[in-house]
Amino acid sequence: MEIALKRSILIPSNELYSPVAGFYDYGPVGKALKRKLEEYWRDFFLRKDGYFEIETVYVLPEVVLKASGHLSCFGDPVVGCTKCGKKFRADHLLEEKGKRCEGAKPEELNNKIKENNIRCPECGGPLGEVGWFNLMFKTNIGPIEGTTGYIRPETAQGIFLDFQRVFRSHGSKLPMGIAQIGKSFRNEISPRQGLVRLREFSQMELEYFFNPNSPTHPKFKRVEKEKFRIYSREEQKKGTDNCIELTAREAVERKIVPNEIMAYFMGREMQFYLKLGIPYDALRFRHMLPEETPHYSGGNIDLEVKTSVGWVEVIGNAYRTDYDLKSHSKSSGKDLSVSLEDGGKVMPHVVEPSFGVDRTILCMLEHCYRKGGDAERRDWEWFDFPAFLSPFEAAVLPLMKKDGLAEKATELADSLREKGFDVLYDETGSIGKRYARQDEIGTPYCITIDYDTLKEGTVTIRFRNDGKQTREKIDKLEEKLHSFIKGNVLCLP
Ligand SMILES: [Zn+2]
Repeated sequence: MEIALKRSILIPSNELYSPVAGFYDYGPVGKALKRKLEEYWRDFFLRKDGYFEIETVYVLPEVVLKASGHLSCFGDPVVGCTKCGKKFRADHLLEEKGKRCEGAKPEELNNKIKENNIRCPECGGPLGEVGWFNLMFKTNIGPIEGTTGYIRPETAQGIFLDFQRVFRSHGSKLPMGIAQIGKSFRNEISPRQGLVRLREFSQMELEYFFNPNSPTHPKFKRVEKEKFRIYSREEQKKGTDNCIELTAREAVERKIVPNEIMAYFMGREMQFYLKLGIPYDALRFRHMLPEETPHYSGGNIDLEVKTSVGWVEVIGNAYRTDYDLKSHSKSSGKDLSVSLEDGGKVMPHVVEPSFGVDRTILCMLEHCYRKGGDAERRDWEWFDFPAFLSPFEAAVLPLMKKDGLAEKATELADSLREKGFDVLYDETGSIGKRYARQDEIGTPYCITIDYDTLKEGTVTIRFRNDGKQTREKIDKLEEKLHSFIKGNVLCLP
């Protein structure tokens, strides 16, 4: 976090006043990383499988969230200190004391707090009664009183609302995948841990609509041998950290995963997170406990990443069945079932992989963080991002500002930008300091313009991961950079 703040990868929101917990801004480097992550997701999960992306509104009228169940169910138990007035998540206070309470109702939490004599963690004062707090931000649509609206707590609802139109205008055939990347808002009671629990955050959600009579995926064969670790319900109940390793096919056969469709996405998710630079051993699928699973669900499995603050959920895989479409059909009075080719009708079922963008970035920052390296370097800190996801692909650095080197370097930076590379130009400070700054934001290639550039038309390329350099002709640079990025070449070959 220190290096992320120092290099403005992340910026605490409203810092000029007093930062409000649960909000973070992305600086230029963080935004570039986020943009590349989202673009890679789009390519990996949507474009490659022919799924559609849409963009729906943030503000939803109350009737939508009543139908979806968010108005009555989307909340957390809250308890306040009667002395200092601070508010806390009642279940978190108990969990911090090692007491299990997944799915407990406010009355049960109340009793547990009394039994265990839990007091205010801030001032030691006595706690009041446990209440229920809805996590949605409420607003008015229209002037004065207007109609009650809420800022969306997930991007998924917009997809269900638009499903019928997209379905009809794009072939009217199941299965169909519809996705959305965008912000969601949850008024968390006491957000902590930086990017883990934000009140405003980004999601990448894919809803896969299919005929419940054929819960298969046309590409399942391609990932059936993909291996992953599963943290089973039994191991969670025992309180151990043990995982079992299964292939996607075995996970379906053992009925841990409800169907091939979810197993397909789990296999793809593994491939994706490994590409981001998260090691295999830091990834596990956690089978959600029955008390954590919504009543309508056909199965929920989270992908978790090991971090310095513990295991963090980065994806929620949910078999939402026909719950959402059915609820909106009932509430709106419009039939959302679809006609099949054989003349029958069916309410599509949905498997949803829902990705947390900010949490994924946090995991990348942690797992790509390095300190030191070769002797020359050092004690400096750097990020080992994969080349194709690095916020900036290259930096162009004139050895000196004088003798036309700066002009030549500016010209080269511009020409690389013309060719589509994300390039930084830096002429400030010693060359060593500039290398260090680029390492700190994970730039894989530093291109230095020196006196030989003017004489022979060559530049040096320095590789981030070993600090070694090679000399290349300027007219070969574009081709070289493309091949280094494509092959993720991060040391001198
Ligand atoms: Zn207190």
